Amino acid sequence: MTVDKMRFAVLTKAKVAEVHERPLPEMDENQILIKQEACNICTTDYGQWLGLREHQPYPMAGGHEGAGVIVKKGSKVRDDLNIGDRVAVTYGYCGECGPCKSGATSECTQYESGPTEDGYYGNFGFADYCVRDSRVLIKMDKGLSASEASFLEPLATVAKGLRKLRIKPLETVVVIGAGTMGVVNAQAARAYGCRVIITEVMEEKIKAAKSMGFEVINANECDPVEKVKALTNGEGADAVVVAVGITRANEQALDMVKRVEGRILLFAAGYPAPKLEIDSNYIHYKKLELIGTYGADMQDFVISAKLLNERRVDVSKLIQATYPLDKIQEAYGEASKPGSYRVSVLL
Ligand SMILES: [Zn+2]
Ligand SMILES: [Zn+2]
Repeated sequence: MTVDKMRFAVLTKAKVAEVHERPLPEMDENQILIKQEACNICTTDYGQWLGLREHQPYPMAGGHEGAGVIVKKGSKVRDDLNIGDRVAVTYGYCGECGPCKSGATSECTQYESGPTEDGYYGNFGFADYCVRDSRVLIKMDKGLSASEASFLEPLATVAKGLRKLRIKPLETVVVIGAGTMGVVNAQAARAYGCRVIITEVMEEKIKAAKSMGFEVINANECDPVEKVKALTNGEGADAVVVAVGITRANEQALDMVKRVEGRILLFAAGYPAPKLEIDSNYIHYKKLELIGTYGADMQDFVISAKLLNERRVDVSKLIQATYPLDKIQEAYGEASKPGSYRVSVLL
């Protein structure tokens, strides 16, 4: 089978997504040709489409939550990746630099994120075919849908956050916000053996989170801080994951975490940037931990694949709609609607 070109979605400016074509790059001996099956639209993708992330360059051949099937492999690719296998994509990294060797592959100092010779930025996620280094691919179970397998990257960022948050079995974790990433955090924390309470304001998301078996606080109907206290014998949560980037959520997290030794994970970015006002004596006396997280390292991708492949985390209800590549403009429109879960582009 010979494939010599790829078709892919590109943002040329805010609100304009087009499908472009280019020759497929030459494959080297450590690379793999993938027939991509799906790529989900992340907040960082539709945020740029909406014009809210103008620090991201154009033309942006975005998309980084993808999965596909191997159609060709280079001569030096390891034995456990073979033609016909399904794989999902992690982040680019070199494997040789200091950060990579210490496990922090997301901090790789050698990996170049673009532009390509023909001027594109991004990861070419929304492409029908793609050539990738074998080291960035992780095998995924074929029993998952392609859109589910595409959750490898977002779930990996959750695995990294929870690793930093150091949750333990039997702890109570509150997740503020039941958007896609809030629910993925909640599912992973539950898989790790925690009691999970979600707070949310949108009716539909409350319903969806309840249908997944979570305790959900409707923050429109009561004070979520008081409710968390009531549900925890007045103690508050061992840990809080802030999965919505707004000032109000930050304030609530400070008030609903337990009195001493509480941990708060600032998982979500927000535009405009949310505020977090706190005096340092408060952090000092309460031995409070405020923890940031962003991205994921290879160890987190490995855990994420395990959680998905072993069905310990179920993302099937988080796929809002699917669109073909040629409807990319509509797909971005749908993904940008407030309250949407993931929109998946089928390739
Ligand atoms: Zn993403
Ligand atoms: Zn590196």
